[in-house]
Amino acid sequence: MDADRTFEFLKRRRGEILSRVERACERVGRETSEIEVVCISKTVDAPMVMLAQDAGWRSFGENRPQELVRKMAAIAEAGRAVPPFDMVGNLQTNKVNSLIGRVRRIQSISSLHLARAVSERAERQLQELPVLLEANVSGEASKSGFSPEELLRDAELVFSLPGILIEGLMTMAPAGDLVAARETFRGLRGLRNSLEQEMGVPLPTLSCGMSDDFEVAVEEGATVLRLGRVVFDEGYRFEG
Ligand SMILES: *Cc1c(COP(=O)(O)O)cnc(C)c1O
Repeated sequence: MDADRTFEFLKRRRGEILSRVERACERVGRETSEIEVVCISKTVDAPMVMLAQDAGWRSFGENRPQELVRKMAAIAEAGRAVPPFDMVGNLQTNKVNSLIGRVRRIQSISSLHLARAVSERAERQLQELPVLLEANVSGEASKSGFSPEELLRDAELVFSLPGILIEGLMTMAPAGDLVAARETFRGLRGLRNSLEQEMGVPLPTLSCGMSDDFEVAVEEGATVLRLGRVVFDEGYRFEG
């Protein structure tokens, strides 16, 4: 890879993404400072992550624990400041220990079983780990996460677990359908509001919005965007 050229591409693309976020904010009267972009680096290697840091991106996410650990180590070995990394994908309980003390936040707490496992392991290591609860708002069978009914039913249990700090919710929208995406993001916000009321705790973080639907997500209240292809893929084309 030609590092200079790639760096220029990443910077230019970052500008385009941020101005789209800004315009979406303007449409609904939000502030861009409410929104964090987490670059999902699962398809690129550590040198590319470092170029993305140089281009101005500040936080990253991975969907496999081993990759997250490997990339953080490679960046440290290169003598660089290691940026915060989030875990965003399916997580098996036997991989949780490798993340504690490394990962900034686990966005993909998708079941009571996993919540308990993370809680136990974090507590054992005297940590309080920030997490998001993953909700399957769209109801697609292929998606993981708590169903809204499950989440409201199990909330008491999940919120009483030590060792985890629940900051909000995460979801994935159906692909290729912006109307369905909007409904999903709205549903996520509604579920968050219900949970806040039921539990009496603030849940400020809404992680939703990926490459194809992040502008809609901003309009519907997202505070964390998880962007992969649009950040790293030169072939990515914006729709509108
Ligand atoms: C890959 C991935 C993303 C990013 O998807 P893009 O469409 O490439 O932006 C976001 N969230 C999760 C959980 C992912 O696995």
